[in-house]
Amino acid sequence: VLISCGKANEKDAMATTESGSNTINKKVDSLLAIMTIEEKVGQMNQYNGFWNVTGPTPSEGGAAKKYEHLKKGYVGSMLNVRGVEEVRAVQKIAVEETRLGIPLIIGFDVIHGYETLSPIPLAEAASWDLDAIKKSAAIAAKESAAAGINWTFAPMVDISRDARWGRVMEGAGEDPYLGSKIAVARVQGFQGDDLASPNTIAACAKHFAGYGFAESGRDYNTVDVGTSTLNNIIFPPFKAAAEAGVKTFMNAFNELNGVPATGNAYLQRDILKSKWNYDGFVVSDWGSLNEMIAHGFAANKKEVAELAVKAGSDMDMESYAYVEELANLVKEGKVDEALINDAVKRILRVKYELGLFDDPYKYCDESREKAVIGSKENNDAVLDVAKKSIVLLKNEGNVLPLKKEGQNIALIGALANDKTSPLGSWRIAAKDSTAVSVLEGIQNYKGNTISYAKGADVTIGKGEFAIELNINTTDKSGFSKAIATAKNADVVVMVLGEHGFQSGEGRSRSELGLPGVQQELLEAVYKVNKNIVLVLNNGRPLTINWADAHVPAILEAWQLGTQSGHAIAQVLYGDYNPSGKLPMTFPKSVGQVPIYYNYKNTGRPKLPAPDEVFWSHYTDQSNAPLYPFGYGLSYTSFAYSNLNVQVVSKNEVQVSVDLKNTGKVTGKEVVQLYIRDLFASVTRPVKELKGFEMVELDAGASKTIHFVLTEKELGFYDNEGHFIIEPGKFNVFVGGSSNTNLEANFDLE
Ligand code: BGC
Repeated sequence: VLISCGKANEKDAMATTESGSNTINKKVDSLLAIMTIEEKVGQMNQYNGFWNVTGPTPSEGGAAKKYEHLKKGYVGSMLNVRGVEEVRAVQKIAVEETRLGIPLIIGFDVIHGYETLSPIPLAEAASWDLDAIKKSAAIAAKESAAAGINWTFAPMVDISRDARWGRVMEGAGEDPYLGSKIAVARVQGFQGDDLASPNTIAACAKHFAGYGFAESGRDYNTVDVGTSTLNNIIFPPFKAAAEAGVKTFMNAFNELNGVPATGNAYLQRDILKSKWNYDGFVVSDWGSLNEMIAHGFAANKKEVAELAVKAGSDMDMESYAYVEELANLVKEGKVDEALINDAVKRILRVKYELGLFDDPYKYCDESREKAVIGSKENNDAVLDVAKKSIVLLKNEGNVLPLKKEGQNIALIGALANDKTSPLGSWRIAAKDSTAVSVLEGIQNYKGNTISYAKGADVTIGKGEFAIELNINTTDKSGFSKAIATAKNADVVVMVLGEHGFQSGEGRSRSELGLPGVQQELLEAVYKVNKNIVLVLNNGRPLTINWADAHVPAILEAWQLGTQSGHAIAQVLYGDYNPSGKLPMTFPKSVGQVPIYYNYKNTGRPKLPAPDEVFWSHYTDQSNAPLYPFGYGLSYTSFAYSNLNVQVVSKNEVQVSVDLKNTGKVTGKEVVQLYIRDLFASVTRPVKELKGFEMVELDAGASKTIHFVLTEKELGFYDNEGHFIIEPGKFNVFVGGSSNTNLEANFDLE
């Protein structure tokens, strides 16, 4: 296939009907051979969208300059250009007006869907359902690809133990094992089996590395972590994504142990490109090259460009550092052109793999755009994963599921009638008010009478990033109506939690309770009617101790995306039996944070009676979380028995357990397997997730579940970064959360 643009003689270097990575490498080499240094550097330059179909947008900073650069072939990628018409317009300039006609790769933050939104990634992680998660990413790819996009800045695979950090909503929680499985599922979903298909897009594992360990949970803050945490907790999901063939990596804003990630050769060259043999490319985070100046790592833009390229950052997102400085640095002999060639090859390879040289307009099909975006298929898929993401935290006296007829239901809370907050953060392409609200979802069930009262707003909603967003409303004028509505109801469903923009980038919180006057509203309603079902909508773990102690039923419904209200209603009414499990520990107080299940023991034993707590404790709070990692209930109950362990070899430890549905309805359980390596040359956590399986059982039914632990699960990274497996004693724990007490032991020779 001949490429459809570019100058004829250069075209020959690019066009071919052959496929395979060798062929692509050859094509890349011959193209590289005819590129000037400026054109090479251009491929390493990424600009934010500055174009609408009629020309450069005046509001976008430096639009005229960007336009000039684009026409000269000094732009390799653009982000935030979207919609077939817009993408075609910029692509046309790249392929028709530049000397070589190299197509742009078009990036976008397709974080949890494009227009049809899936649950936020933290919620999806709560499904523990890798097929549903993969499907959801595939839908996101299909929809964004139909809008002209061919590269997403997802999945974010940063592990975090700090609910204050607003970006926990974008990740898979606190555990490296679950995080790695989900990273792979999402990469496979986005990229599919054939990257050249017009329905798949390149994925991006971000933010390499350590971003989730920002001190005090304050976004962008300093990260200082030891080797063991880096190797065993932070790196694994990145490594898994690399092994799954993720086409790109993004570095991070933070410094790691004194070196900004963007200028960090240890991370990008030694670990990623050498040790892991990664052959995709690394894009910087937004302006993160220039941020190295404020970090105190580089004195000026020229130094920025030199340090970043030497450290292995291949593409500069919006710092203008490469495009302005790199060619000169090469000419002055300060940067070896071989480094530029390597970066450009990586970028061109992905463009070839996407099929952009064969048809740069393959993502530009208006009829596909119309048919795919918002389709029924997409909505069905996001509804499916939304139901599976809900976690039942409490259900005393079986308040849930709700009876379908003859009930007076009071629905209370601003979030109950909110069609925007459930979309969560990172929803650039979705329009406001496009989520199904709980009120709408619940109204589908006609047998009951629903009375709605807002009660109180969540926030006063000023500004998107500003601190004012978190100046919560003090207005209680809606309380009396809410109380009156609740008084006469059989059941009160209260939908409380966070505003959709209260989590996400730049939205850290220092308190983790229900914002504003919502806690007061809850307590006021409770005084007149104790039969409350609390539905939480939030982007992070919350400290809901009072609710846990008083309210009979609690559903963690996160921010579930477009189909939110339908998913919640189906769970409330028992048409879907909740199966979600927490991917992140819920603390009792901010003072416990960071809190996570896979902690290490201290040297201190328990205090003698009557205290019987660990020496390492708080005098005003227990060490235990409110809800542990892996926790979640069902409308049925499960019993575990007969935990058996058999050591065949150090690469094969067989574990089996019997699971029985002891309740009255069919249900799904996520059977979780944890190990503890009791004595090791580097101390090991008290528990580490090393296997899980989703099992569906009818009431009364039983099943034996089998796991096999191999060296991969039994080993760990030592402080030199070597993966080792040591003989000795191990514990195995199996159950329905990290708080399981079914335990067995084995020795590894
Ligand atoms: C975020 C990235 C995102 C990029 C592009 C940055 O602020 O940290 O995760 O992909 O912006 O929008």
